[in-house]
Formats: sequence, structure tokens, C-alpha cells
Amino acid sequence: MDQKLRIELSKQGIVTTTLEELYNWGRKNSVWPMTFGLACCAIEMIATSMARYDLARFGAEVFRPSPRQADLIIVSGTVTKKMAPQVVRLYNQMAEPKYVIAMGACAISGGPFKQGYNVLKGIDRYIPVDVHIPGCPPRPEALIDAFMTLQKKIDAQTLTGEGRPRHLDPEAPSEFVVPRFGAHDLEPPNNPEVFRILNNIDSCAAGEVDAGGD
Ligand code: SF4
Repeated sequence: MDQKLRIELSKQGIVTTTLEELYNWGRKNSVWPMTFGLACCAIEMIATSMARYDLARFGAEVFRPSPRQADLIIVSGTVTKKMAPQVVRLYNQMAEPKYVIAMGACAISGGPFKQGYNVLKGIDRYIPVDVHIPGCPPRPEALIDAFMTLQKKIDAQTLTGEGRPRHLDPEAPSEFVVPRFGAHDLEPPNNPEVFRILNNIDSCAAGEVDAGGD
């Protein structure tokens, strides 16, 4: 609908919307994070949910104790190779649509422990990350900013067509391979399916930008 007409109608007390907007509005304002932390970054995450920063203002009211009740996993802290299979397993157990925030230098790249033989160099090797937060540790404001970025991302999702999100693509996987300990390292060393999905999403987004630019 024409934006000017919509504004004009709203001045007359008539609210117009689409099913897509309603669907996205409901989801973006009721994201349920999982009670889950790995290291020092988790303390900042806990602070974000306390009274001073009050993540509940954004609809993320109570951290859920079970992956079955959560649709957001905040990977907050150092992911050791010992913990990586557990993180992927928790992600697999969450219901769709589900999202991932990688919080802190450790979660996105291994951080100060990058050279450690026991630390995973980024959880995006195994599960698709929606928002990365740099920093060591990122402050609660950074997590709130990431949360708002995720909300904008959800709000912009379409229900059909090329740019539709992963959970609406019947061919996209909902579960990813859980790495196992091999002779020398985790096997597989990464999940190529994750990179394929992210590349697809990026190329769709680039296509939309190009189309708009023309
Ligand atoms: S990024 Fe820094 S604060 Fe966060 S878990 Fe790693 S070492 Fe700790």
C-alpha cells in the first residue's frame, strides 16, 4: 500500500497492515533467549537482563531453561572444543524459527585464546550466526544493540520469495552436524552447510540492494 495513503488513513483512525508485518511484529517482540552461558561474557549477559539494563523492555522477558522453549541462543563466552558439540546440540533442539547471537571476541573468533589448541575459532563454523558482537567483553549496551539489530532483521523478513528466511525454506536444514572428537581435532572441522546458507542469504540481500539501486 502507498505509504502516503497509509499515513493519511492512520490520521483518520484507520490502521492498515499486512499479514507479514503482523507476523514479524509478533515474533520480534517476543524473542525468548535460552539460559545459557560459557564464560566471562555470560556475566555481561546476566547484567543485561537485570534491572539496570532490563532486556525485558524488548520483549525478551525471561530466559528460558530449556531449548524447547527458546528461540534465541546467545553464545556468550569462550567455546572450547569440549563444549562445541553441546552448543550445536542445544541449537538443534531449539524450535524454528531460531536465532543466534555470538557475543564477544571468543564466540566469534576464539578471542584472546585463538591460538589455544582447545578453543574453537568461532561458533559460526557450526551454526548460522545472525548477529556478531565484537569486544572483550562487550558491555550490556552492546548486547542490547545486537538484540535490536536482530529485531530489525526479523522485521525485514519476507514470508515468501527469494529472500525468505531459512526456516521458511523447505530445503534449508533445521539441524546441523554435531562435531565429534577425531584423532586430532573436532570432525568435521566446520559445517559447510552453514556457509552455503549464509552465502545464499548474502547474495539475496545483495540482489535486493542492486535492484533498489537501479
Ligand atoms: S571475549 Fe573476553 S570477556 Fe568474553 S569470554 Fe572471551 S575472554 Fe571472556
